[in-house]
Amino acid sequence: MTPPIKKTAPKPGATGLECPTCGEAAAPPASAGGRSPRPFCSTRCAEVDLGRWFQGQYAIPTVDAADDTIVDALIAEAEAAAGQREE
Ligand SMILES: [Zn+2]
Repeated sequence: MTPPIKKTAPKPGATGLECPTCGEAAAPPASAGGRSPRPFCSTRCAEVDLGRWFQGQYAIPTVDAADDTIVDALIAEAEAAAGQREE
């Protein structure tokens, strides 16, 4: 099944980017020395996004590098190998 095609026409002055928070057209790039909420449409949407990060709504999935069961298995293996050498 193909996703539905958006039929909303870009607003005048649209930059081709959509605000990740509300989907409106993103603010234009800042002029030299100025500030722009881009890629958001407004500072409000940028702050909403920041708030989501702070609340932990966005997360990058990871695997714990040091899994205790792996470490314990390696220690047991090393101790067994050491025990065999002493015999
Ligand atoms: Zn927005």
